[in-house]
Formats: sequence, C-alpha cells, structure tokens
Amino acid sequence: MNQKNHKSGFVNIIGNPNVGKSTLMNKLIGERLSIITSKAQTTRHRILGIVNDENHQIIFSDTPGIIQPNYNLQSSMMKFVKSAFQDADIFIYMVEMGEKMLKDQSFFERLKNTSIPILLLLNKIDKSNQKEVEACSEYWTELLPKAKIIPISALEGFGVEKILDEIKKILPEGIPFYPKDTLTDRPEKFFVSEIIREKILLNYQKEVPYSVEVVIESFKDDEKIIRIGAIIIVARETQKGIIIGHQGKPLKKVGTQARKDLEIFFGKKIFLELFVKVTKNWRDNNQDLKRFGYFI
Ligand code: GDP
Ligand code: MG
Repeated sequence: MNQKNHKSGFVNIIGNPNVGKSTLMNKLIGERLSIITSKAQTTRHRILGIVNDENHQIIFSDTPGIIQPNYNLQSSMMKFVKSAFQDADIFIYMVEMGEKMLKDQSFFERLKNTSIPILLLLNKIDKSNQKEVEACSEYWTELLPKAKIIPISALEGFGVEKILDEIKKILPEGIPFYPKDTLTDRPEKFFVSEIIREKILLNYQKEVPYSVEVVIESFKDDEKIIRIGAIIIVARETQKGIIIGHQGKPLKKVGTQARKDLEIFFGKKIFLELFVKVTKNWRDNNQDLKRFGYFI
C-alpha cells in the first residue's frame, strides 16, 4: 500500500425509517451486516461496515431511522444518529421515491448548514419511471442544492458502483483507521442477536417485536458446530406468552429461521437454544439499556 495515495474516512448513512439504509449498507459491504425488514425501527444501533481496496478504506455507518423518541430506548437510538453527525467525512442522506422531508426538521436544518459533502441517494427507483425520478431529483435539488443526487435501487444494486466512485473522489487522504481486512466493528455475537431479532420482527405483530431485546448468553465454537444460547428479553409477562405462543410453535419457528440464517452467516452447523425472560419495562430503564449496549 502506498500510504501517500491512500484515502480513508467515515461515510455516515442517515435518513427516515424504512427508506433502505440497511439494504444499501449490505449491498456496499457484500455481507449481511444489518438486518432488514419492512418495519420501521428495525435498526437500533450504529453499525460500521468497511469497504477496503488497495488505496481506499471507506467506513460506512448504518444508523437507525430518524424519529421523535417516545421512550428511552428510542432516545438512545437517536443518540447513535447524532453521533453520526460528529465524525462524518461524507454524508449519505437517503430518501425514497415520493418522500417529502425528514421526520425531524432539525436534522434536515443541520444537513442544510453543514459543510460536509452530501450524497443524496434517491432510492427505490425500481418502483418508478424515468419521469418520476426526474421530478423527484428536481424537488430535492431545490431543497438541498449542494447535495450530489444519485438515483439508485439498493435492492437491485443499481447505482451502487456510482456511489463508490463518487465517494472515492471526495474521500480525504489518510491512512486506514482499521486493519485492511476488517469488515465491521461489531463482534460476531452482535450479528447473532440481530439475526434472531430480525426473525422476531418478521413473526410477531404490533408492539411486541419493539419490546424485545436479544442477549447471547453462550457461544461455543466447536470444530464442527457452534452452540448458541440466546435469551429473548421482553418488557412484560403477557409478551412472554405471546413470544412462546401456542404450544411453543411460534418460538420454534423463530429458532428454525434464525438457525438457517446463522448457518449461512458462519458457514457452519448451528445448535440454537432460545429462552424467554421478562425484564420489566427495560426500554425505559437506563441500567438495562446500558447493559444491552445502548448509550444513555
Ligand atoms: P432502513 O430502515 O432505512 O434501514 O430500510 P431497510 O433497508 O430495512 O429497508 C426497508 C424496506 O424497503 C425493506 O422491505 C426493503 O426490502 C425495502 N427496500 C430497500 N431498498 C429498496 C429498493 O431499492 N427498492 C425497493 N422496491 N425496495 C427496497
Ligand atoms: Mg435499517
């Protein structure tokens, strides 16, 4: 590596819930680092995904969608978003076709006033036609004239190379922040709990998945099999019953789906045991939130 010609920096992805931030992150990294569902607030943490080539290290951050917090967990989620404002070399501001403005106007004002370069990604163009894309581009050019607008489809991977090319042009010169074989800052255990949480988001309705946290209690990597014990934390006794479900079948389904994804993720056989535990109102208890890895 020629250090003189090396570029590196932080590219922080922000935007409304559900616009496709995590989908893009995974496409960029080529790995499934962030969980994706059609539900808002799927992403709760700030997750780094790192793209390395000989002359570049691009450190992407996937963040929770911008919302007005109703409980402490959501306030903590917004702290991850705010932290993304502090160290960005480049912002990716993602919107979807037809969207008008951020859920939080003050974030948008900060974007307008920042001197940090912004790539405005117009996502989900696979659902639109050329005319709509043009109209949408014009709309955002007026609102945020300094941003470079790139229409993309994160889902189909359309425009992803263009994003990388643009970033490489404007990334600051500097030595890598992480070893060049690093993909993420998160330990394997984090992805195990996220994959399980994704299956909970997919299998349960209403408030229940939003009241769930997953803690990995044991992780034993034997030669041929990884043995994992995970605790599903809920906020109320009634939710425990819902998670376990009739004859334990719903929970079993979560276990089976998660195990299959984990086997792909680790390329190994997985033995997964799930337990359900009530930690009363953990979403508003700062002690619990800290324990689960949120900033207070
Ligand atoms: P996030 O909340 O911004 O991280 O959004 P996600 O990445 O979790 O995606 C939210 C939903 O939008 C999921 O159902 C995705 O499959 C879907 N989605 C993401 N990107 C695209 C896209 O380019 N086209 C279409 N049609 N759907 C997309
Ligand atoms: Mg997300």
